[in-house]
Amino acid sequence: MTYDPDNIFAKILRDDIPSNRVYEDDDTVAFMDIMPRADGHLLVIPKTPCRNVLDATPEQLAAVIMTVQKLSQAVKTAFDADGVTIQQFNEAAGGQEVFHLHFHVLPRHQGVPVRAPGTMGDFDEIAQHADKIRSALA
Ligand code: AMP
Repeated sequence: MTYDPDNIFAKILRDDIPSNRVYEDDDTVAFMDIMPRADGHLLVIPKTPCRNVLDATPEQLAAVIMTVQKLSQAVKTAFDADGVTIQQFNEAAGGQEVFHLHFHVLPRHQGVPVRAPGTMGDFDEIAQHADKIRSALA
């Protein structure tokens, strides 16, 4: 399987399409998921190309997981969460829909299930959630 440089997240990295970025460093970017399954649902990606865990380099994986930890701590604070769900899918059979490596980070509250997939979030609400995460990171 080869990397498609025109996948949605590659376009987000190039700023060809908009995203609500909450964090960026030399190697990774974190931005809000447009179909949030929990308030504060965000995605962490490497800046360099790879489809998923199966073709990522150790360096890409190391950089991404460090950002996943940083953002997991930030969403836990921002949403006063009881826990954090981290999800990651590999290839279509594994549930992957966008073929640029990404980890989902979802703040969770005891007894509150995640919402069903596939529903577009409210733009203003997602922007407010992004602000809360940026504040927690500051
Ligand atoms: P998956 O590949 O199954 O891990 O899921 C891809 C995720 O990307 C889904 O949660 C989508 O809601 C999310 N997504 C798709 N397009 C965008 C976009 N333009 N901006 C932010 N999130 C997106």
